[in-house]
Amino acid sequence: MPKAQETILEIDLNALKHNVTFIKSKLKSNTKFLAVVKAFAYGSDALEIAKFLKNINVDYFAVAYTDEGVALRDAGIETPILVLHPQPQNFKIIIERCLEPSIYSKRVLNDFIAVAEEQKQSNYPIHLKFNTGLNRLGFAETEVKSILNSLETTKAIKIKSLFSHLAASDDKNEKEFTINQIESFKRITQKVLNTLGYQPILHQSNTSGILNYPEAHFDMVRCGIGLYGFGNNIEINKSLKPIATLKTTISQIHSLKIGDSLGYNRAFIATKKTKTATLPIGHADGLNRLFGNGNGFVFVNGEKASIIGNVCMDMIMVNVTDIVCKEGDEVIVFGPKHSAENLAESINSISYELLSSVSQRVKRVFRR
Ligand SMILES: *Cc1c(COP(=O)(O)O)cnc(C)c1O
Repeated sequence: MPKAQETILEIDLNALKHNVTFIKSKLKSNTKFLAVVKAFAYGSDALEIAKFLKNINVDYFAVAYTDEGVALRDAGIETPILVLHPQPQNFKIIIERCLEPSIYSKRVLNDFIAVAEEQKQSNYPIHLKFNTGLNRLGFAETEVKSILNSLETTKAIKIKSLFSHLAASDDKNEKEFTINQIESFKRITQKVLNTLGYQPILHQSNTSGILNYPEAHFDMVRCGIGLYGFGNNIEINKSLKPIATLKTTISQIHSLKIGDSLGYNRAFIATKKTKTATLPIGHADGLNRLFGNGNGFVFVNGEKASIIGNVCMDMIMVNVTDIVCKEGDEVIVFGPKHSAENLAESINSISYELLSSVSQRVKRVFRR
């Protein structure tokens, strides 16, 4: 791979394949695998990732919003796609593009039934989401009867799956809470199955659920961050490979004298002779302003260089006083050797946020 001459996000598809294989090795052979590719596949590239994954036996995709599902259909993806958080004004498009909505409340259920009937659908697949403790989206256990009553009034829809989402599957201290979520999911789904007369797919686990709670695998798992190389756990991270490397290059080097200031609002003042490198990446590329003023860092020729002064829209400046480097040298912001999780932690953030923040301005380059 040639050295970066500009800011790029390099995506390693072999690493993606490795991660899928590793996570699937934790599943029973008949457990279905849903790949979560929302938010541009966690900031990488949903279309390329989905095209690659569909060739290595992924049963389902999930996105957050309808438009993300439409983009996958436009790219020729024919795999079933679950839309986790659809809005009723998009229900017509959902049906037109064969997307499958998560239905999480009576309002949304009634709205979807109305649109499906108007569109003359029969047995249109929907996914019922139950709240078992996250208190974000989902029906309550007490609503089961009324959902089943609504279903009896229509032939337009059919329940393809029953699912729920874990709130703290990555946190060993919340084991009791998580076990309770799993138990209430079992209870709720049993109630539904008792009257339904057919067997929908059951699923509850995200990546950490897959790794920490085999009893919550049910018929299918929903894997997001694990695909991209993070397992919310130091040990697991050793077995996964981050797929994305954010690279840039040194545009210019400056030598500051004592008392010289650097960048907007003179946020950095040199207290000794300081060599700085200016890099073509800023907050508009996804580097949060909180990384400025010494909090965040990058790697220049393998050495850690802290981000000094304020993060600009298109640039940052890093301290390279003790690093041998020159203009044009490659710089790594994060990658397999310099974890995005560590960089995110420097501003109290998490891998999910840093990865999904890399903006669409940054060119994606794929490697096999
Ligand atoms: C984002 C999301 C996932 C994926 O979670 P990871 O922790 O990234 O594996 C699974 N299920 C739902 C409902 C989600 O919103």
